[in-house]
Amino acid sequence: MEKYNKAFKFRILPTKEQEILINKTFGCTRLIYNMFLEKRIKIYENEKKSTSYNTQTKELTSLKKELEFLKEVDSMSLQITLKNLDKAFQGFFKKITKFPKFKSKRNTRKSYSTNNVNNSIRVEEGKLKFPKLKILKVKFHRLIPTTHKIKSATISCEPNGAYFVSILTEFYQEIKPIPSKNNIVGLDYSSKELFVSSENQRGHSPKFYSQYQDKLAKEQRILARRTKGSNNWYKQKLKVSRLHSKIKNSRADYLHKLSKELIDKYNSICIENLDLKSMKIKNLAKHTFDNAWGMFVLMLEYKAKFAGKQVVKIDKYFPSSKTCSSCGSVKSILELNERIYNCNCGLSIDRDLNASYNILAEGKKLLAY
Ligand SMILES: [Zn+2]
Repeated sequence: MEKYNKAFKFRILPTKEQEILINKTFGCTRLIYNMFLEKRIKIYENEKKSTSYNTQTKELTSLKKELEFLKEVDSMSLQITLKNLDKAFQGFFKKITKFPKFKSKRNTRKSYSTNNVNNSIRVEEGKLKFPKLKILKVKFHRLIPTTHKIKSATISCEPNGAYFVSILTEFYQEIKPIPSKNNIVGLDYSSKELFVSSENQRGHSPKFYSQYQDKLAKEQRILARRTKGSNNWYKQKLKVSRLHSKIKNSRADYLHKLSKELIDKYNSICIENLDLKSMKIKNLAKHTFDNAWGMFVLMLEYKAKFAGKQVVKIDKYFPSSKTCSSCGSVKSILELNERIYNCNCGLSIDRDLNASYNILAEGKKLLAY
């Protein structure tokens, strides 16, 4: 049995009172985050050392005696805020993330998290029991299986004013045996089409970003003309961030469908283990991130795991493009604009298709056929 996590996100319909409390909690968690961030900065500046999560938790307890309103909101959400701040600093000290920033009141995406303690978060008669908010009306478009244990939940408000709850669960599942070795495919990454498969299927990823690029540029120009911090500026900023969410959501939907289709169809999917960081330098970044190869690979891996299938990753130094899939000879140079692979052995084939054949062959080798 192996442990898995899965998140379920649902739209919630809070009452007016619940909405007020949710917004108070957004406000309190932001206040705590900013106050304790400032404390950390001061300690660092004055004493050149850092403080700990435990110390800050104790400080929070005494602060609650001063600021009574902090007691109105879910205390767990404040503790989690300190934990997140601590994580942000750990990330900074390990040079993974930038120095933590103060949270702005006008941030368009608001959220807070809480943990399930003694069944404080549970589904009951089609409604959600939730700390402090009591009973929440939820649009359950799917059921949380009874075998899943609720660990935590995050309430958020999107730029368009809709409220959501994301419920994180934990469950145990037997790993299914990997099915027979047939039904195997190779995918070559393509900046234009997301991928080309060894069966000549193409990802045809719509360019969600480019599609909205003109509109986004127009709205951003309007934003630039507005006085920063004015009401009209915030209104325009909201418009821009709604467009960004729209792009993000339609891209994720598309990638979910496509990855599911491939996992249903094949038992093993061979891909290159691309180094997206170095590709960024080569100025492929916009395309690469627009068709979101990285997100696609994560989805493939995740879905494969659940289906008892596998994603085989080929070493990133494997010359998949330069190798002839027919005779095996390797070219020393292959220009980016050479779309057809021509070999002395007589092979003349679409460059990406050739690469996908090589990735498939290498994947089969790794699976020790
Ligand atoms: Zn050849």
